[in-house]
Amino acid sequence: MRRLRVRVRGQVQGVGFRPFLYGLAHRLALTGWVLNDGDGVLAEVQGDALERFLTALAEEAPPLARIDAIETDAVPVQPGEAGFAILASQRGAVTTGIAPDAAVCPACLAELFNPKDRRYRYPFLNCTHCGPRFTITRALPYDRPQTAMAGFPLCPDCAAEYADPADRRFHAQPTACPACGPRLSHPIEEVLDALRGGRIVAIKGLGGFHLACDAFDAAAVERLRARKQRNGKPFALMVANTASADRFGAVGAAERALLEGVARPVVLLRRRDDAPTLPDAIAPGLAWLGMMLPYTPIHHLLFHEAAGRPDGTAWLERPQDLTLVMTSANPGGEPLAIGNAEARRRLDGIADLIVDHDRDILIRADDSVMRVVAGAPAFLRRGRGHAPASIRLPRSGPPVLAVGAHQKATVCLTRGNEAFLSQHIGDLDNAATLEFLEESVAHLRRILAVEPVAVAHDLHPDFQSTRFAESLGLPTLPMQHHHAHIAAVLAEQGEAGPPLGPTLGLALDGFGLGADGGSWGGEMLLVDGTGFTRLGHLAPLAQPGGDVAARQPWRMAAAALARMGRGAEIAERFAGCGPADGVRRMIEAGINAPPTSSCGRWFDAACGLLGVRAFSPGGAGFEGEAPMALESLVRHPTVLEGGWRIDGGVLDLTPLLESLLQINAREGAERFHGTLAAALVAWALPELAARGLDRVVLSGGCLMNAVLAEGLSAGFAARGVTALLPRRAPANDGGLSLGQAWIAVQSLLQEGPPPCASPFPPA
Ligand SMILES: [Zn+2]
Ligand SMILES: [Zn+2]
Repeated sequence: MRRLRVRVRGQVQGVGFRPFLYGLAHRLALTGWVLNDGDGVLAEVQGDALERFLTALAEEAPPLARIDAIETDAVPVQPGEAGFAILASQRGAVTTGIAPDAAVCPACLAELFNPKDRRYRYPFLNCTHCGPRFTITRALPYDRPQTAMAGFPLCPDCAAEYADPADRRFHAQPTACPACGPRLSHPIEEVLDALRGGRIVAIKGLGGFHLACDAFDAAAVERLRARKQRNGKPFALMVANTASADRFGAVGAAERALLEGVARPVVLLRRRDDAPTLPDAIAPGLAWLGMMLPYTPIHHLLFHEAAGRPDGTAWLERPQDLTLVMTSANPGGEPLAIGNAEARRRLDGIADLIVDHDRDILIRADDSVMRVVAGAPAFLRRGRGHAPASIRLPRSGPPVLAVGAHQKATVCLTRGNEAFLSQHIGDLDNAATLEFLEESVAHLRRILAVEPVAVAHDLHPDFQSTRFAESLGLPTLPMQHHHAHIAAVLAEQGEAGPPLGPTLGLALDGFGLGADGGSWGGEMLLVDGTGFTRLGHLAPLAQPGGDVAARQPWRMAAAALARMGRGAEIAERFAGCGPADGVRRMIEAGINAPPTSSCGRWFDAACGLLGVRAFSPGGAGFEGEAPMALESLVRHPTVLEGGWRIDGGVLDLTPLLESLLQINAREGAERFHGTLAAALVAWALPELAARGLDRVVLSGGCLMNAVLAEGLSAGFAARGVTALLPRRAPANDGGLSLGQAWIAVQSLLQEGPPPCASPFPPA
């Protein structure tokens, strides 16, 4: 007989780990105890079957657990010990993680639709394998008094389950039932009637409110678009199950795994030609639909009601007609509404009915949005279901905070070799979003009990995030934008091992301030730890009018025409788009038309020349709108030989753009994507070969474009080069704080060049 002390690190609290160990110890006739503490789970086990215990510990862990490390020490045998106990949580130094929120598990669904179960149709059922976590937790250790369930004392039945080690709800902190738990403000049948009656319903979810309506009701969808947002951002849809989603868009194995996974993101599916006809206003002109499956009991109950309240779970597999628009309730570009009073105030005039409940949301989290890119999942937005899971860095270092840039802001706090990337925060265009950023930093500091020793921020001095970083009283580390994009991908390679050496990266992006003070965004960088060298960039295009050109592709098309020596055509071609002749003069005189090497602006130029969303009245479009529509036109990318020139590290796509003037939008979209990918590969290959490198990092907002990412990935692979794409964080600025944090960790670990050193001569 031996006794072992076992330390389990990772996502092991709030996921049923202690009851799992309890059951395991009983099965193997072991004695001892288990508890939660600041480092995860600590146990002592005594008996003969210790090897089997350790094997089962790793292999049979509960569905929401993620084990990062198991450490064992032999300790003295305790003579006469009987039984296995679950001891009270130890407070003290908190260094462990909180699990993300998870979709309702199959066992809970079986109860939800079983008329004999005491939780039949109860909208807040959950267990140790499912339900809310991150969004209802104030602080660690993760115990009921630290959650939004603190005000709901358990009834005798729930208390008995909670205390029974053989029960699925043993120590399930958010557990509840109709007798003791939260209540929904409106009966489900009333909510469904409202949706079917064409009304817009705000529904309180896990990380905030959604605005919902019947997706087949064109008038309701138009009304929602008019009330909530006037630009053309697509709305996500919720359907009952994969069989229902598959009627709209092609669901392959990778998409199915994403749709049905416990994180339940919105998943982009390529629209089927024979899909049921949806109103145009859902995803105007886009070949991709964002779809998700129900993840709270409230969602499931809506579909159950629509299906006629069938008993049992067989109906869950059959296609269902009910299709709901489910879009974040974030009017005015401000953060998602989470409070009941806040929802009534902010959604007044938008929602016809507000469905809330008395379980508070303590921290907001938007739905994650993912798509399959080059055969594997990629984030477009990382939020609910993923935050605050950590990303393992290649190396441990001092704790640092990073605050991102301006758009799609996230923050990142490191602890040891773990990087905690916050949920999506938003564009820092308003005070409310900035406040959310500050709250997110405070919340991460609290739940991780980490005090950063430095703060990394974007090189741009005028970003709100930069000013916030400077207000913290910590040493500040400015990071060049595209260096941080490449570093974000290098950071997540920590899962695979130690840091990579010098790495060539292509940052294909919208806008970032360059080390020379210019506007960058199509960069070839050689990144080595804290330093980088700008090996090349896309040929600069004038950006007439500055930022507004990012939402008015015709302006970039005008700049491209000027570059072709065809400036005289601008006024005629874009006569209907606004001040076309004024824009020509700005470009020719170089006034308010700063040059940019941005890949995103080259995309815009192509869209403008092809007449794809070239002009939105009043500048009402959103950045990336036209390129998304352009990507939607592509079936088979084509390559125009001679479509580019490479000169002194500068890649010039002017011949490609000039050729677009002769062809239609679809052909143009296919030629632009195919030729751009081929040109980028041809540009990078000699630089890779000269350094003996067989890996290239691809990052930046343009890599959210699956056609481009796949073209690059395949193009490099054909030449024996592995392309590393962002997988754990978004390719766009949502992943930037991770890269900033990783550069900061390295710079604090070593004496070396300052993070932004660049030998490239100023422009
Ligand atoms: Zn469950
Ligand atoms: Zn109860």
